[in-house]
Amino acid sequence: MDKLSSPKKTAEIVNRHGFKFSKSLGQNFLIDENIIEKIIRGADISPGDNVLEIGPGIGTLTMEMANKAKKVVAIEIDSSLVPIIEENMKGFDNFSLLNKDFMKTDVSEVVEKYFNGEKFKVVANLPYYITTPIIMRFLEEHHPVSDIIVMVQKEVALRMNASPSTKDYGALSVAVQYYCDTEIISKVPRHMFMPQPNVDSIVIALRVRGEKRYEVEDEGLFFETVRASFGKRRKTLLNSLQSVDGATKDIVKSALDNSNIDSKRRGETLSIEEFSRLSNELSKLLDR
Ligand code: SAM
Repeated sequence: MDKLSSPKKTAEIVNRHGFKFSKSLGQNFLIDENIIEKIIRGADISPGDNVLEIGPGIGTLTMEMANKAKKVVAIEIDSSLVPIIEENMKGFDNFSLLNKDFMKTDVSEVVEKYFNGEKFKVVANLPYYITTPIIMRFLEEHHPVSDIIVMVQKEVALRMNASPSTKDYGALSVAVQYYCDTEIISKVPRHMFMPQPNVDSIVIALRVRGEKRYEVEDEGLFFETVRASFGKRRKTLLNSLQSVDGATKDIVKSALDNSNIDSKRRGETLSIEEFSRLSNELSKLLDR
């Protein structure tokens, strides 16, 4: 029997159900078995694992994961996919489908109800229009997530994985790498989807660190410092950091001096360790 990932099988299923692809929901289904295998390998799914999938489509990745994991929960916004997923996932008693918008889903409730509050992995071929907010939700809300293995637009993956002083390095690189170690799993050319998107993709693994690597005193101020530093790319830190609430030129100069960072440097050259030192110094000087 053909796998769900075979182009013939995917076409047969969507045609038989009269399913219409929605561009605005980012519906580009994977039709390449090798990539599915690489995602599963990158996620290292074993029989004890809980997996949360966002946007299962017709269930191509879902089925392969349910064959290996303890429990798979998929959240799909499009109700016209529900009968298709139910048909394909019939017989899997370790699978639950939630017909919901992920952005309006209480993740803690899902984790409690379906995973007994235990650790879980996120695996998804993400709808591109909400990639960054989805990833940031998992990182900022501090759920017990150990790994996030996602297919995203190539440019976004390169930004998440970038090092200081490279063209892709920015606020997203710092935000992701503050919490995770990143690993590029595979490039995915556009012809591996039905229908073909206008962009190429990359599968990236974000390994969430159990222990904090950076000693940041005020996370809110840390991220405000990062955003301000990247806000005006061509400005020196002495100038750009004055947009931090309450930071005068004198305060910024002292914070930079105290953290041993040259005030003529630009945000895109700072490592996360330097951002953390700088925000800790700012925190001492700002009255808030
Ligand atoms: N996982 C499937 C695959 O790899 O073939 C489908 C991936 S497709 C790129 C994205 C999926 O996310 C679609 O099924 C789409 O309906 C769903 N989706 C889009 N926005 C969503 C949202 N806000 N919440 C949950 N699912 C969403």
